[in-house]
Amino acid sequence: MTARTPTKTPSAYPLALLHGLQWAICLALLLGVLTVALNTGLLALAAYLIAAAALQPLLTALSVPLALVRFTGVSRAFVRYAERLVSHDLTFRLLARLRTTLYSRLTPLIPARLLAFHSGDLLARLVDDVEELENFYGRVLTPLAIAALSTMLTGLALWSFSPLLGLVVVGCLTLGGLLLPALALWQGNTIGRQQVAARAALQTTLVDSLQGMPDLLALGRAADQSARVAALDQHLGGLQRRMAWITGLQNALSDGLAYGATTLILVLAIPQASNQQFGAVYLAMIALIVLGASEAVTPLGRAFAALGRSRTASDRIFALINAEPATTDPPVPQPLVAAPLPLRFEQVSFHYAAAEGSALHDITFTIAPGEHVALVGPSGAGKSTVVQLLLRFWDPCTGTIHLGDHHLRDYAQDDLRRTLAVAQQDGHLFAGTLRTNLLLARPTATDAELDTALTQVGLAALVRQWPQGLDTWLGEHGVRLSGGERQRVILARALIRNARLLILDEPTAHLDRATEAAVFATIHQTQVDRSLLVITHRLVQMTAFDTILVLADGAIVERGTHATLLAQCGLYAQLYEAQAVDTLAE
Ligand code: ADP
Repeated sequence: MTARTPTKTPSAYPLALLHGLQWAICLALLLGVLTVALNTGLLALAAYLIAAAALQPLLTALSVPLALVRFTGVSRAFVRYAERLVSHDLTFRLLARLRTTLYSRLTPLIPARLLAFHSGDLLARLVDDVEELENFYGRVLTPLAIAALSTMLTGLALWSFSPLLGLVVVGCLTLGGLLLPALALWQGNTIGRQQVAARAALQTTLVDSLQGMPDLLALGRAADQSARVAALDQHLGGLQRRMAWITGLQNALSDGLAYGATTLILVLAIPQASNQQFGAVYLAMIALIVLGASEAVTPLGRAFAALGRSRTASDRIFALINAEPATTDPPVPQPLVAAPLPLRFEQVSFHYAAAEGSALHDITFTIAPGEHVALVGPSGAGKSTVVQLLLRFWDPCTGTIHLGDHHLRDYAQDDLRRTLAVAQQDGHLFAGTLRTNLLLARPTATDAELDTALTQVGLAALVRQWPQGLDTWLGEHGVRLSGGERQRVILARALIRNARLLILDEPTAHLDRATEAAVFATIHQTQVDRSLLVITHRLVQMTAFDTILVLADGAIVERGTHATLLAQCGLYAQLYEAQAVDTLAE
């Protein structure tokens, strides 16, 4: 086997998503600082006005501060509106970017890398964890910068009255800006992490319970499952209460810090005003500047309390984003020609995980254009694994698979899958109509073509009886169909694709013998000039196959036609006889 150089996906991290949004971030920052400045300015000017009005009976002397109060009062509303607009727009653009990145990175991980994840957990990552990151982008990153800038501006404003006041206010705000977040982080980190884990566990159990509810009811275990859900819910509730306590404490400390800093500044400023270093009329103004500026610092505590949650959510999301797919496209894929091509497995061996035994061992076979091949063998022999490798959900550990003159991995995965039609044993029907499910195979197929495919699988008569025909709603996983009907819809979907190679994995497992024989006969007729690979443990109409491969314990143990294999009196003959006895017994 030649060595393969995988095309590695570049790894991403939370801050990388900010790329290209620098100007929007700067604008959000600028508007944020301006909002704090105008809020503080309004408070300070109003305080000055009241104090000055008490000392100066002449209102004309106060016309400038009056105009400034009007200006800050009106403009702060507009600036605040613009700031909310820009920062929310930025946050939602980041979240949209995160969701699309996550979704696009998720697709190549299916199925090999997602086997270990529960669908409920994936849902929690895609929805809750992504929303959690809003906290990081919207309430930590930008507010931190706004707090730092506001502290500097406040320091400068108070420095103009006295350097001591400037230094003290910068000290108080910096201390608060470091102390509150540090305390919040210390208190909230572990709980935040536990909260994300508990939420994901609850979601996983809920999805599992809903999916398996009919079985739980049948087994009489619905109450046990409800108790499990209730216990997880209670655990999450407990964590949420503890987090609420921390947030409450942060609010109290924030207020304490703001009033403490204001009192300290007043204690220092009053003697200076008495010494005529600046007018006493400015005292109220100074106090309110400190109170106003504190508002830029105090939200940091609450935001950092939730940082543990954000970090865990981010770890969970970026674990998916940065996961290496099991199979990747080559840098320059080979074009897939329209002509039929032979497919060749050459000494292919494969195991799902290093610690596990091999699922396939030294498999070699060819499917020539137009050849009909059956892959038979007992359950667990490795038949479905052959399909997984063919679809490139996994690559062989050793050996090669060729389509025409090139390795399977030299083609783009999308191109390759376009040339195949697969009806998987446990194929999925989407919550939609029969038509939407069939058109997935070929969106341009006409109603007549859909009807032909349904006739081929023996479903057309039934569908004609349905009042809404092709537009009948099938329900989630096709719940309104019987097992056999569902399987035949999946088969019809594969036939509609008109592919060069049709792969059917146990296509008739849920069908009665008469329907099974009729469906097989139709499949052979419709695929007469195309390749067919049927994986089955039911040995029906085996004379119609050009080649039969018998798989046992991951190795091909016999190959030939029905007649030659029966003559060998080996495993195939045993399976065939056992099945004949079963049929007679029915
Ligand atoms: P068959 O289709 O012949 O019933 P499979 O190809 O499904 O057999 O399975 C072959 C072997 O590989 C079995 O031992 C099975 O347990 C194992 N196997 C199948 N799928 C996986 C998987 N996703 N991860 C680990 N082992 C698997």
